[in-house]
This record gives sequence, structure tokens and C-alpha cells, in this order.
Amino acid sequence: MIPDWLTERRDMVERQLRRRRIRDPRVLSAMLAIPREEFFPTENRVSAYRDEPAQIGYGQTISQPYMTALMAELLELSGTEKVLDVGSGSGYHAAVLGALTARVISIELLPGLAALARQNLEKTGRAENISVVCGDGSEGYPDESPYDAISVAAGAPDIPSSLLEQLADPGQLVIPVGDFDDQELRVVTKSGGRITWRIATHCRFVPLRGHLGWR
Ligand code: SAH
Repeated sequence: MIPDWLTERRDMVERQLRRRRIRDPRVLSAMLAIPREEFFPTENRVSAYRDEPAQIGYGQTISQPYMTALMAELLELSGTEKVLDVGSGSGYHAAVLGALTARVISIELLPGLAALARQNLEKTGRAENISVVCGDGSEGYPDESPYDAISVAAGAPDIPSSLLEQLADPGQLVIPVGDFDDQELRVVTKSGGRITWRIATHCRFVPLRGHLGWR
């Protein structure tokens, strides 16, 4: 039997997001509109709306829906920003950001996943304002900088200086920082030339590789 995806999506938004205090109506409607199952390998689609991270191949995972929603909400996007998304993976997180803002540059280290993200975004009609590039996102993507917001979906040993440099002023960055098993999700703000940060929650992401990540 083919699952009723719309019902599953509505349940996800209600139980996993709204009940856990995701409030931004734009985030909730983006996640209600985007067919998350389309970003999953066919054989694993049934797990698309589970309250947990899931395998997307290449040893990588797509975040739990709540984490995607929280990170998007923390960026407080109004719809006009240019956003850098580090770690495209399946492309789902980029699709959510693309629904919330003007332009998204999504960077992925693994060529196979960059191709997959591109394909998933095209197939779901979400590719218009999103460019997927293949490269080391620990160094940001200077060609399109500065970014009004940056979202990093892999755990870093520290906040890469390149990302701080490429962040606009004012600008917001969300990034998991810590060791492999436990990270704090930091919300970094650049304003009036000053950098401040706070911890939003604890989390566990796959490691950020690359020059300014885990080598
Ligand atoms: N946001 C994704 C899931 C991210 S998983 C989604 O919605 O599906 C983390 C991703 O970061 C993986 O695909 C991994 O290959 C990628 N990654 C790790 N280090 C990276 C780096 N230095 N630059 C770009 N991508 C990186």
C-alpha cells in the first residue's frame, strides 16, 4: 500500500514541530508543502516522516525533521536573504530554506550527493532559486559571499573563520560545534562589526570534513 504522504506530513508538522514549539508560520508551511519522501531513496521512503535522522547513502544522514525546522527558524528569514547551506546531502534542507528566502547556495563535499541533491530539487520543482555546488563548505563559498544567513548541517570542531568572514553584517549563522558524539547548536550573530553567539540546543550531526573541519 502506498502511504498517504500528505497525512504523514501533516502529522509530522503537528506532532514533531508545533508541539515542540516551532512557531514560525513560514517554516511550518514550508515543511507542510515540501514532499520530504521525494528526498529519500525509494526503498527507504517509508521512514521519511519518522522522528529521527535517516540514511541517505554515502554514510551520511538527513536530519530529524525537528532539527531542520529549528535551524530554519533560528535564522529568522524574511524572504529577501541570500543563504549559504553547507552540507546539501539529499537537498531537503536546501529546499526548506529555498521556500523561506530569495536565494540559496548549497555546497556539498561529495560529488555523488551534490548530484543527488540537484536531482531531488529539480524533480520537486524547487531548483529555481537554489544552486548546488560541489566543494569544501568548511571554507564557505566566497564567489557568492557575503551571505545574510549561513546554515551548517554537519558538526564542526570550531566555527570556521571563513564562514564568519563570508557572513554579512547583519547576519546569522547556525552551526553544530563539538566532538563526534555531542555538539552544541550555536546561533552566531554578526552585528555592527561584532560577533556574538548563544547555544540553542545540543545535537549530533555527521562530522564536517574539509580544510577547516575534521580532516
Ligand atoms: N542537509 C542535508 C543533510 C546533511 S548531512 C539534508 O537535508 O539531507 C551532512 C552533509 O554534509 C553530508 O552530505 C556530508 O557529505 C556533507 N559535508 C561534510 N563535510 C562537508 C564540507 N566540508 N563541505 C560540504 N559538505 C560537507
